[in-house]
Amino acid sequence: MQIPTFKLNDGHDIPSFGFGVFQIPADGSTYKAVSSALKLGYRHIDTAEAYFNEQEVGKAIKDSGIDRDQIWVTSKLWIQDYAYEDAKKTIDNTLQKMGLDYLDLYLIHQPYGKVDEAWRALVEAQKAGKIRSIGVSNMTPKLWNKWKSAFKDVTPVVNQVEYNPYFQQKPLRQLMAKEGVTLEAWAPLGEGNADLFNEPLLKRLADKYGKNVGQIILRFEHQEGVIIFPKSVHESRIKSNAEIFDFELTSDEMDAIRALDKGKGMHDPDAPGVGESLLKAFDVHAND
Ligand code: NDP
Repeated sequence: MQIPTFKLNDGHDIPSFGFGVFQIPADGSTYKAVSSALKLGYRHIDTAEAYFNEQEVGKAIKDSGIDRDQIWVTSKLWIQDYAYEDAKKTIDNTLQKMGLDYLDLYLIHQPYGKVDEAWRALVEAQKAGKIRSIGVSNMTPKLWNKWKSAFKDVTPVVNQVEYNPYFQQKPLRQLMAKEGVTLEAWAPLGEGNADLFNEPLLKRLADKYGKNVGQIILRFEHQEGVIIFPKSVHESRIKSNAEIFDFELTSDEMDAIRALDKGKGMHDPDAPGVGESLLKAFDVHAND
């Protein structure tokens, strides 16, 4: 499988399609899913400290026998570790946990707390060669403008946000395009949202191209220039989700899917108290 790449603002070429591992348990399931994905041609894996499965991702990469420089590995720093010294320590721990010499991309997972200190640690780790590219996640236009001054020396390469045909992030995409920041999609399949999968337009296009609805959604997002990494624990879906590079939606079809936008997602990073509730939901130091 030939996966296209997108050029990031720091010059690195990122595979525009990959595999996400949120909510895959670290009981061997992550190892199995990532191993399947790599066997099926995926070359980009998206994990995070707060997914508790970095170790299994690292082991699957190592056991795949694929050269390290052929796989793009992303992880993310959790809010609890944003203080400068903690962030530095976490980066070293992550590399050790994953058995890697460097990460291709490391993100500030959530836009709350000591984001400026965390960014300083990421910039230093990048200079030290521990991380190739650095970016952010869940930044709305409001949160981007709040933190923008922290990024004055190094601009994030990506902003990873909720994105799918129901939530196309139009104002954010305009702002990110102006700033030279590429959009990465989380929930590219709307986390399996049944309404989305039953959209008559998407079903019609699936029939026309001999594809399934998931493939139409992912192809639309790819043609929009958004980086995607759908998650699945089922080998048949891992396989079919990647089969989107042998057809092209027309510009009228792209416009029709653009019209499905509801302008609203499952998660609102601007809502009051989100940082606190995320901290309660994901305690990355519970077992320290
Ligand atoms: P996705 O939109 O990728 O959806 C995953 C869900 O859809 C799973 O329940 C999966 O079920 C199902 N699914 C997968 N393929 C198909 C298909 N072809 N047809 C029907 N259903 C399907 O959601 P994610 O939240 O996992 O987002 C993708 C990745 O983005 C994450 O894994 C993670 O890496 C990242 N992410 C980042 C966040 C952030 O804050 N930065 C937040 C959330 C996610 P099954 O496994 O049973 O096949």
